[in-house]
Amino acid sequence: MPKNSTKKYLTILLCLSIVLSFSASGLSADNEKSREYLYTARLLFNMGNYNKAVALYKQIQDADSTFREATLNLAIIYKNLGQYKKAIKQLKEILKIESNAIIYLNLGEVYYLNSMPNEAIDAFKSALRMGQGGALIYFWIGKCFQDKGDLEQAKASFKKAVEINPAFALGYLCLGKLYVQDKMWDYAEKAFDVVKELDPSITEIYPALGFVCFKQKRYEQALKAYRKVEAVDPDNTEAKKYIARIYKNTAYHLKEKTAEREKKRLEGSVAKKVPTKKVKDAPLVRVHIGDMKKLRLKCAADFFITGQNEKEILFKGEKNQLYSIIRDKEGIVLVLGQKKVKQFNQKIRIFHRQPNATILIFDVEAGKGEYWASKTDRVYRGVIEVEIYKEEFIRLINTINMEEYLYGVLPSEMPSNWPAEALKAQAVAARSEAYVKLSRHEMEGYNFCADVHCQVYSGAGVETEATNSAVDTTTGEVAVYNGKPIDAVYSNSCGGHTQGNIFGDRQGIVYLHEKQDAFRPTGFYFPLSALELEDWLSASNIEVFCNNNAFSRQSNFRWMRLYTQPQLERLINKKKNIGKLIAIRILERNPSSHVHRIQIIGSRGKFIIEKELNIRQIFGNLRSGMFNIAVKLDKKARPEEFLFYGGGWGHGVGMCQVGAATMAQEGFSCEEILKFYYTDIDIEKLY
Ligand SMILES: [Zn+2]
Ligand SMILES: [Zn+2]
Repeated sequence: MPKNSTKKYLTILLCLSIVLSFSASGLSADNEKSREYLYTARLLFNMGNYNKAVALYKQIQDADSTFREATLNLAIIYKNLGQYKKAIKQLKEILKIESNAIIYLNLGEVYYLNSMPNEAIDAFKSALRMGQGGALIYFWIGKCFQDKGDLEQAKASFKKAVEINPAFALGYLCLGKLYVQDKMWDYAEKAFDVVKELDPSITEIYPALGFVCFKQKRYEQALKAYRKVEAVDPDNTEAKKYIARIYKNTAYHLKEKTAEREKKRLEGSVAKKVPTKKVKDAPLVRVHIGDMKKLRLKCAADFFITGQNEKEILFKGEKNQLYSIIRDKEGIVLVLGQKKVKQFNQKIRIFHRQPNATILIFDVEAGKGEYWASKTDRVYRGVIEVEIYKEEFIRLINTINMEEYLYGVLPSEMPSNWPAEALKAQAVAARSEAYVKLSRHEMEGYNFCADVHCQVYSGAGVETEATNSAVDTTTGEVAVYNGKPIDAVYSNSCGGHTQGNIFGDRQGIVYLHEKQDAFRPTGFYFPLSALELEDWLSASNIEVFCNNNAFSRQSNFRWMRLYTQPQLERLINKKKNIGKLIAIRILERNPSSHVHRIQIIGSRGKFIIEKELNIRQIFGNLRSGMFNIAVKLDKKARPEEFLFYGGGWGHGVGMCQVGAATMAQEGFSCEEILKFYYTDIDIEKLY
């Protein structure tokens, strides 16, 4: 067992040694010894020690065959392990004692996963008769009919599922795919559009959308969808093929339209004006904007280009003119119209002296590989530095002061219409994190990147009155622990339980402490047992701060992703050469139930993936690491489909942003919010 997990569950292991010294003969229903066994088994489950957990549950069961909790946990662990026959046996044991809708629902699910759709439908029907009528059960029934090849019944079931829960993205996705099979392109397009709205992280929607638009000869929409595919998944060959076909089919018409739009875009002047912000003692920060092959820019005021020495002016530029900067052998060249106007063989600084003007940079790439990947024109305060980078690139860095930087971070990281106290908490958290991470990119020669790795910074174009005011009213304020600014990390939604410090082995960071995202008890006790984890991940009515549709989509709190075996195999092989995908096993969960270690078994061997970001990325950028997997086997027991179901969006460490918004809505102040998410901290003004 790895060292860190030993540490995490130390108390628990002590418990275990006590328990193992007991003899099983003293067990009976609900006595203290059984309770201890149950507790130890739940810890073993989280440590991935499934065999020992199973052994303990069996001991309880042997002592008292009616002990429901032990039997149900056994069934769920077997289900997690893909040992469906054993799971079915346990569930049937319970049904001998009590007839319960939830048990039938579980039984139906396991039958389906084991490629027994008829038995599954019977079990689901029993659950329905007993009053279990959620969207999920109709989804499963739909999957069963699909498995049987009865597509009409499947469609009817998926329709019923989305009728019951109109926020059920996966229901719409399955429905849309069936419409594609029926060549009902317009219906499919509508269904896919809904999926995009409900859960934009389901990126397989874009090729599907491109395809149905293409089929309807709606080439512009198809092109848009395939461009999105290219941004998210740059080596997708299907997208390239269809884009080529679209160009071929529509050569004249589309190209002309695009050229017209392009002309308009480049001619548009630098409209954005922003008030300057000079804060005494605020540090200057250098933010990496991107590495481009060609740079196009405009400035709202006449501007200057200098080398590192700002006093020696190398070039004077005119306002609102479109300039390009390109590479040549010697260095970089400034181009106006078609004419080369100046050659530089050193790093340059571009700036102006008009207080409220900005510099516009065209085609700034953001979120590469993420589902929100985009290319946009952006305006910036401060100075733009340009230097050569590698063989063919131009590197862009924006130099501004910390407060101006936060103006551009805040609206990128939190919607500006959220409550003021939440925005203030966000400003203080962002400032603290930035302060602590100033030297993060030292080796590359700047302070921050503009993406999620540091904090998303989109320049001055996204600034709003509300977010600027949140920065202004907290000027210089940071959260401190023991007098030192803290690494105040945050993420969109913790899924109901924040995660402890998972970033490296930094012992000193005690202010990042895992906790339930609620003041009132939720009825769940962490670490969760296998059984509780099922409830936790499937319930939509848990009373935690971030379960709030006023501030976020339902899919940020609870989400599902369904992959076919070839789909997932391709995604994994993009990151790691595993060969054929055979199985996935969760090896360890953190106490917050986020997955910490996972094993992927492929034809080329067994691979261990550690840490939540790696784990999320290898499965096609899952929303979070708090998830479980249900694997559908075919008749020959080979994996056919993988259903990931989970909670939260982001790493879940530190402040939960949706939770913060809910707290603010309930009347908590900026300071109270920060002190809830970061343990034992104070707020201090640095300047
Ligand atoms: Zn970074
Ligand atoms: Zn939360």
